[in-house]
Amino acid sequence: MRSLPAADSATRFPSGSLVAYFSMEIGLLTNMPTYSGGLGVLAGDTLRAAADLGVPMVGVTLLYRKGYFHQHLDDHGVQTESPSEWDPETFLELLPHHCTVVVEGREVHIRAWRYLVQGASGATVPVYFLDTALPENAPEDQALTDSLYGGDARYRLCQEMILGIGGAEILRELGHTRIHAYHMNEGHAALLTIPLLEEALRSESPDEPDSRIANLVRHFCVFTTHTPIPAGQDQFPIDLALQVLGENRVALLQAVGACRDGNLNMTHLALLLSRYVNGVSMRHEEVSQDMFPNYPIDSISNGVNAVTWTSPSFARLYDVHIPKWRQDNFDLRYAVHIPLDEIMDAHGEAKHALLDVVQQRTGETLSPSVFTIGFARRATPYKRVDFLFSDLERLQRIVQRVGPIQVVYGGKAHPRDEGGKTLIQRVFEAGASLRASVSVVYLEDYDIALGRVMCGGVDLWLNTPQKPLEASGTSGMKAALNGVPSLSILDGWWIEGHVEGVTGWSISDYAGPESRPEEEIMSLYDKLEFVILPLYYERPLEFAKVMRSCVALNGSFFNAQRMVLQYVENAYRPLAARFWAVG
Ligand SMILES: *Cc1c(COP(=O)(O)O)cnc(C)c1O
Repeated sequence: MRSLPAADSATRFPSGSLVAYFSMEIGLLTNMPTYSGGLGVLAGDTLRAAADLGVPMVGVTLLYRKGYFHQHLDDHGVQTESPSEWDPETFLELLPHHCTVVVEGREVHIRAWRYLVQGASGATVPVYFLDTALPENAPEDQALTDSLYGGDARYRLCQEMILGIGGAEILRELGHTRIHAYHMNEGHAALLTIPLLEEALRSESPDEPDSRIANLVRHFCVFTTHTPIPAGQDQFPIDLALQVLGENRVALLQAVGACRDGNLNMTHLALLLSRYVNGVSMRHEEVSQDMFPNYPIDSISNGVNAVTWTSPSFARLYDVHIPKWRQDNFDLRYAVHIPLDEIMDAHGEAKHALLDVVQQRTGETLSPSVFTIGFARRATPYKRVDFLFSDLERLQRIVQRVGPIQVVYGGKAHPRDEGGKTLIQRVFEAGASLRASVSVVYLEDYDIALGRVMCGGVDLWLNTPQKPLEASGTSGMKAALNGVPSLSILDGWWIEGHVEGVTGWSISDYAGPESRPEEEIMSLYDKLEFVILPLYYERPLEFAKVMRSCVALNGSFFNAQRMVLQYVENAYRPLAARFWAVG
């Protein structure tokens, strides 16, 4: 297949060779709405950490001229949406390179826009945003790179062709011909295996068995799964695949075993053709291993980009006490020596910044001296957005007995997720009935900028997913970087990040793989009433110690530099080494 040069001893990668990171969404800037939530923000943080560390990597995604959507909430929390159109020229450089992909029998022309991610030590990582809005394309094809997670199954499959096949083609046009690892960030990118299979077929004699062709491709592919439920997997009926991909390509995918039960399943395709597969937390590895017993699955726990998610006041604190933290996030371990009063001052400043945003956006004045709970994530049933309001009377009794609480919410529901939309309305209803005792505000249009202000500005970060559906979760990691402890269900990353009373608190101490809602509701209120609120109001220095150990224990580990180093060691490097042994 491809011939690779000898490894560069400094990076242990083949010299001049790259990792190509493919993701349906990549979130880099708040005003570039090319992401919907956790998956895209993680992709952006991954690419930023690669640039920090000088890992030779390129990113590939779609442009989405109409973005995801803007969220509007009326007085009752009813969500409506509008497109979030943006101008690519403001942030991106248009490249002269073109390629074409045959979609539904039509030739679709693709061009790319480039964003250069600047790393802390000067290295850069290019990210390519694929665009079909070219005059040579039919109007419907021009719209293929308009909307993220919009449209029907046909639209989505066409988009996945542009991403996978178009992405692999444009990298060749751009001269990135030496790629030793194609990293599929979730199954949406799995069609990148098609051009690799086609190339393997061309370079091998035609009577090679399919298994050998698949093996050749496998040496180049890495797959990260993010979906802990079978229903969440991306799949398409074979008829649709035949119509969109064409007979030859479907035959190729059938030959490697990616079509089952009348469906082309992107998770299976990625599993079949990857040399290395991982889940995004240790628990998620176990859950994925149960779902896919025939494939070895490893885990690399997610991490967030420390510089991106640290509030200005904490960044200044770290610059004084831990000067190298930007280049080397492991140094956050040394936060153990930062004086508690300085931690409290930095947090006070971050809290003010949040309360200012609340004031500007809602007109509500929240108090800086009141214990503030934050909750922001995609509004969808398994996240149990309204869990805090399971028993309003109990919540009111707690507030009367121990001290006041105010709550700041954020998060969009996917336009077709009626269950998620209803949850937002429930939060509004609870807020209305608690009006006299607890202030509840819901901030519209949760995005990267708002996430930064919220995760750093609250006193407690709440997470209430139904187990075992939180593959990882990352917003609690952003909070930890700002000294904000979590109160969370023992699922996803929190099983690893939780040390009771040291980095935060668990909702129920049952660590098994399924939720026990009654027990969890009881535990949520008990911890607030008997542990967290008394600590906050009566022993503020002790509370500040928890804040500090969040940074030292969790900020130093659940960051994207550590995550990318683990990908380099476990996913990218052995793959290449194995290839040289074979080739
Ligand atoms: C971090 C982030 C998410 C993901 O948060 P989770 O805790 O993983 O749900 C989603 N949206 C935005 C804007 C974020 O910044």
